[in-house]
Amino acid sequence: MNLIFLGPPGAGKGTQASLLSKTLNIPQISTGDILRNSVRAGTPMGTRAKLFMDSGSLVPDEVVVGIVEERLQAADCNNGFILDGFPRTVAQADALDVMLARLGRQIEFVLSMTVDDEKLLTRISGRRMCEKCGKGYHLVFDPPKEAGICDLCGAKLYQRDDDKVETMRKRLDEYYEKTAPLIDYYSQKMILQPIPGTGAIEDIQNSIEKVLKGSLRDNS
Ligand code: ADP
Ligand code: ADP
Ligand code: ZN
Repeated sequence: MNLIFLGPPGAGKGTQASLLSKTLNIPQISTGDILRNSVRAGTPMGTRAKLFMDSGSLVPDEVVVGIVEERLQAADCNNGFILDGFPRTVAQADALDVMLARLGRQIEFVLSMTVDDEKLLTRISGRRMCEKCGKGYHLVFDPPKEAGICDLCGAKLYQRDDDKVETMRKRLDEYYEKTAPLIDYYSQKMILQPIPGTGAIEDIQNSIEKVLKGSLRDNS
């Protein structure tokens, strides 16, 4: 199954994509994670992307399109993939269509999560990430077993630079201006599937699995 998670920063895309990736046994492709790894590795692409990420702006389309194009050709995508945080502009969505046509594949569902701004800000400001494996946590809503330590790999948790108050508003503005139009874009293609953005993480996970199971039955 080939899926996209669409939603504003803090909507829970990464959290749900990671859970679903384990259930379906297909990779989660997070352009944010890939970019952060390139920044950490100090590659030329990472150094360029960092300027945009630190200011809360989107990284230029050609950079992220290149990343995804390469990633989708890896063997682990043969049985499907979950795009988390891509596409984020209409130009990226158009480029994805071209890529998939070339690979003879298509997106089955765009799982669209919306959450009001006030909740997004509370989620983003309490978000912590594992510096080694990238797993996300929340200080209040999804805390690790031991404060400051990743449950999975034992490495330290950190707060992303762009999760600080100064950059959050800019990221939301970018979302409403450039990414939100994709809701209509995919709705017109009849593949948009609204998913509740609020509620317990586990309940949202269940509604996603229900939607996908229903679709598998319909197709059989
Ligand atoms: P969040 O999980 O809060 O939505 P991400 O980790 O997905 O944030 O993205 C972090 C930053 O990386 C974005 O603010 C943006 O600068 C950059 N980025 C990630 N994905 C894309 C994309 N598809 N297009 C442009 N920029 C991107
Ligand atoms: P995104 O990838 O869309 O930016 P994340 O999955 O990183 O969002 O979630 C943002 C923050 O909100 C994280 O700290 C995460 O632990 C927390 N979170 C995710 N889902 C929920 C939820 N349903 N209720 C409360 N907090 C949540
Ligand atoms: Zn970890």
